[in-house]
Amino acid sequence: MKIYEMTDEQRIKYLLDGGYIDETQAQLLRERQTISTDLADSLSENQVGSFSLPYGFATDFLIDGTDYLVPMVIEEPSVIAAASNAAKRVKKSGGFKTFPTSRIVYGQIVLENVTAAEIAELQQHDSEILKFAQQAHPSLIKRGGGVVSLKFNHYEHFEEVELGIDTVDAMGANMVNSILEKTAHKIASMISGDVLCSILSNSGVGQVITVEAKVDYEQLATKTMSGEEVAGRIVKLSTFAKESVKRAITHNKGIMNGVDAVLLATGNDFRAQEAAAHSFAFESGQYQPFSEWRIADNKLVGTLKMPIELGSVGGAIRALPMAQLSLAIMKIQNSRQLQSVVGAVGLANNLSALRALVTTGIQAGHMGLQSKSLAVSAGAVGPEIDQVAHKLNQTKDYTLQNAENILLELRK
Ligand code: NDP
Repeated sequence: MKIYEMTDEQRIKYLLDGGYIDETQAQLLRERQTISTDLADSLSENQVGSFSLPYGFATDFLIDGTDYLVPMVIEEPSVIAAASNAAKRVKKSGGFKTFPTSRIVYGQIVLENVTAAEIAELQQHDSEILKFAQQAHPSLIKRGGGVVSLKFNHYEHFEEVELGIDTVDAMGANMVNSILEKTAHKIASMISGDVLCSILSNSGVGQVITVEAKVDYEQLATKTMSGEEVAGRIVKLSTFAKESVKRAITHNKGIMNGVDAVLLATGNDFRAQEAAAHSFAFESGQYQPFSEWRIADNKLVGTLKMPIELGSVGGAIRALPMAQLSLAIMKIQNSRQLQSVVGAVGLANNLSALRALVTTGIQAGHMGLQSKSLAVSAGAVGPEIDQVAHKLNQTKDYTLQNAENILLELRK
C-alpha cells in the first residue's frame, strides 16, 4: 500500500515497523497533544492554548548516500506530496549531494561617539579582545566552536566590532548575544564613547550551503512530453526566474515551502531563516532565485545555494517533544546534517513546482490535493470530505460555491 493511501494509524505503524520511532513516540503521535501547559508557559507569554498544524513526512529522500523520511509541518496541501514526488525522481537518478560550508554566525557590537584614535587603540588590542570573547563561552570551544574572527567596520555615523562565531550545533542566537554583550562591556571600558547595542546578525552569510541534484531525463517525462523536453523547459523557466524578479520571488516561495516545513517540524526559528533567505536573495543587488537548473551530460542539473539558519540543539528544540521526534525520525547527528536535509527538501519542492509549471500547469496536481481542504471549508465532515473532494476533482471547478453546492446535493 502506498503511504498516501494509508490511514494515520497505518502510517504510525509504518514508522514503528521501519524502526523510525518507538512505542512511546508512537503514543505521542496518537495523542495529538504535544505541548503541555507548563511547556507552553515556559516557551511563550499569555498562553491560553496551543495551535496545531498537520505533521506529516516526505519520503524517498536520498541525501549524501543516506535515506531519509523527512518530517514536515505545513498547512498547505500538496507540499509534502510534491517534495516526495521530486525526491523519488532524484533518488532514482542517484540522490542529492550537499556541500555545506562554514557554520559561522556574525554578531555586531555597535559603537558611537568614538574617536578615530580610540578605534586605532582597539585595533591594536584586537587579539586581546578576541581572546576575551573566546573565553566568554568556554563550553563552545570544548565542542570545537567559538569565536573565530574579529573585524572592525566603519559606517557613516557608527563604528562596529564584528565577531564571527562558530556555534557548532546550535542556531546560536542566544549564545552569540551573550558573548557579544560580555565583549561589549570590555570594549566599553576601553573607550570614552558608547556601546549602542550588541546583537547577532541574521544575515546567514556564514551558513550558506549548496545542494545539487542531477536528474535523468527519463525521470522527468510526462504522458505527452519527453523527459528531455521537460528538462529544457525547466531550464528556460529557471532562466526566466533570473531575469524576472516577480518570478524569482515565487520560485523562492516554492523552495521556502519545503525549507520552512522542516524547520517547523524540528522546532527551529523559521523567522530567522526567512530573514536570512530574503537578504541572500538580494545579495547581488537584484533579487535572485535560490536555485538554478541547467543541462549537463544529458541530465537536468539543479543547484540550490542559500543560507540555512538552524540548530539541532538549543532554543525550543530540546523542549518540544515533536521536534525531538522529528530529529529522531531523521536520525540527525548534528546541525550540518539537518542543514543538508532542509536544503534538499527545498530543492525537491522547487523541482516539483517547475516540472508541473512547464507541463500540466500547477493547478492540475495542486487543486486535486486542495480539494479536500476546500471540502472542509464548505462544511463537509467525516466521509463527506472525500465524497465532496472527489466530485470537485470530477468537475474541476475548484470554487467554494461549487463545494457548497456539491455538499448540499449530497445531503439531500
Ligand atoms: P540556546 O540558548 O539554547 O543555546 C544553545 C544550548 O545548546 C547551550 O545551552 C549549549 O550548551 C547547548 N548545546 C548542547 N550541545 C551543543 C552543541 N553540540 N553545539 C552547540 N551547543 C550545544 O540556543 P541558541 O543560542 O541556539 O539560540 C536559539 C534561540 O534564540 C532560538 O529559540 C531563537 O528563536 C532565539 N533568538 C533568536 C534571535 C534572532 O534570531 N535574532 C534573537 C534572540 C533569540 P552550553 O551552554 O553548555 O554550551
